[in-house]
Amino acid sequence: MNRKKLNSLIAAVIVFFATSAFSESPHWDHAEQSTWWAIEDTTQTYPPKRFPFAVCGVGQHQSPIDLAAAEVIDTIQINPLEILYDVDHAPVFFNSGHGIQVNTSIEYSGKLKVGEELFPLIQFHFHAPGEHVIGDTKFPAELHYVHIQADGKIAVLAVAINIGDENSAFQTILENVPSVSGGKNENSGLQFDPAALLPPLDHPIKYYTVAGSLTTPPCSEGVQWYFLPTAITISEAQLNQLRSLYADNNRLPQDVNGRSLLTQ
Ligand SMILES: [Zn+2]
Repeated sequence: MNRKKLNSLIAAVIVFFATSAFSESPHWDHAEQSTWWAIEDTTQTYPPKRFPFAVCGVGQHQSPIDLAAAEVIDTIQINPLEILYDVDHAPVFFNSGHGIQVNTSIEYSGKLKVGEELFPLIQFHFHAPGEHVIGDTKFPAELHYVHIQADGKIAVLAVAINIGDENSAFQTILENVPSVSGGKNENSGLQFDPAALLPPLDHPIKYYTVAGSLTTPPCSEGVQWYFLPTAITISEAQLNQLRSLYADNNRLPQDVNGRSLLTQ
């Protein structure tokens, strides 16, 4: 094969992958969340892939929820939770197009331990306002630590954010996330410890857990949620800065459908 033919083949392959990557994930935004289920992928000919976000509408274990609407059960023994985060030497500050996020590096070893099960920390991101509510109590923002096992099993640790003292770890993220949608800052040269965003923890860690889903399309279920009872704070100026990047990137609470909230 001559060089020119090889180049056009490479170009064709790149176009194929760029197109298929796009077709696997049609555009969506938070403003139209009531109709995510109906977003159509016209490049797919077979149902159900033609409506790749259908579970956002038909799922019975969707997130977020009003935690006060779930029955709290504290009489069943639940697994001890350990948060084994440490310093990431090459975090990637990422503007996902739907929020600000930090992706952990390939070598990162931080994880969540639930009983004997380990869940590697893949990324953490922010919503403003918060997604989970507790009756009339709403939070100005919410932090989600997303852990994914090699087989795809997901556990999310959620931390409520209130207005209060300035948060220096959060400031580092604000200052290093690109303002352009899709932008990645991979070469900040910074180290970052995701644990720096955690509230003070009890020993053993007090938590609440419920079965749920991703809160963004494709709204996949089978996600186990863990909530810490203590909020962290950011300053009002920091909230304004967060909202200047992404405001109202919160999904509204979904039907609880008889789910229980387990705690110790
Ligand atoms: Zn989230």
